[in-house]
Formats: sequence, C-alpha cells, structure tokens
Amino acid sequence: MPVEEVYVGIGSNVGDSIVIVSEAINHLCQLPKTELIRQSSPYCSEAVSDIPQGDYVNAMVLLKTSLEPLELLLELQSIEEAFYRQRDPALKWAPRTLDLDIILFGSRSYDDSHLTIPHPELQNRLFVLQPMYEISGDFYITGLGSLQYLIDNAPQIEIDRI
Ligand code: ADP
Ligand code: MG
Repeated sequence: MPVEEVYVGIGSNVGDSIVIVSEAINHLCQLPKTELIRQSSPYCSEAVSDIPQGDYVNAMVLLKTSLEPLELLLELQSIEEAFYRQRDPALKWAPRTLDLDIILFGSRSYDDSHLTIPHPELQNRLFVLQPMYEISGDFYITGLGSLQYLIDNAPQIEIDRI
C-alpha cells in the first residue's frame, strides 16, 4: 500500500477556535494508517467571505498515510461532525466550528464531485500557504510553482502567527 505525505489544512471561527484546532490535531494523530509528521503554529486570519464573520484560527499539518484520498476525506468529515459542524450546502464559506481540507496528497491529482486535489483554492489562500511554508520551507508544487512564488502572488490578507 503506498504511503503518501499529505497536507491537511485546519480552520475554525466558531467556538473556542484555538482549543478546537488543537483538539482536531489530536484527532488527526489517531487516524488509522496515519502518523503526524509536522504541525504549524496556529494563525489568526481575517475571513475571506461575502458573509460577515469573525477571524479564523488556521493551522496546517503534514501527515504520512496509507489511506486512499477518499478514505481520508471521509475520516476528516467524521472529525468535523464530531465538532458539531452544521453543513449547509447553500452556504459556501459560511462560519464553521471546524473545516478540514486536503491540500496536497503526495504528488497525486484527483478530481471528482467529492474531492479535488490539489485543493483548488490553494494558490488563493495565504492562510493555507503561510503555515505550509512554516513547516516545510520553500518547495515546488507541480503545476503551480514554488510555495514562495504562490505566497508572493496570493491575495494579501491580514494573517498573524499566534
Ligand atoms: P470549503 O472547505 O470549500 O469551505 P466545505 O468544507 O463545506 O467547504 O466542503 C465542501 C465540499 O468540498 C465537501 O463536501 C468535499 O466533498 C469537497 N471537497 C473537494 N475537494 C476537497 C478537498 N481537497 N478537501 C476537502 N474537501 C474537499
Ligand atoms: Mg472544507
């Protein structure tokens, strides 16, 4: 079974987000066939949305897993459920207790109605790119460019390491 290095982005802006993000990382450590390699600091970032809402706490983890991409997505969704996230398909980018996104899955690409890898918003989200840079430094992402290039060219938002 192939083992892949996977980046998972974490976000929360409802409830005690610092605690929720840290507990979410504990849940990720306990996933089957998965180990935590590195985790970023928490970051505070302004919400990017048409819906007015509070700042987010964001973080990034690097996992090693032999789960398949869709298996990992299901595991992430059940962790989100554990934090009582209300999922309303009519409300994109609504406030949420916990959001777990697969950002990169080794060098694989994947695209169906449930899952797109690399995450389609990666290059637009400084709150994803910045914590990634913290844990891995600069590296090249196939088809997109170097992390440093993506950071320099992403829409600039207010983001602070906590
Ligand atoms: P978002 O993360 O875009 O703010 P949601 O967390 O509500 O919104 O996700 C909506 C859907 O996005 C999920 O049902 C999931 O199937 C899909 N999805 C597609 N690609 C990914 C990915 N790389 N990581 C996580 N979810 C994804
Ligand atoms: Mg999500």
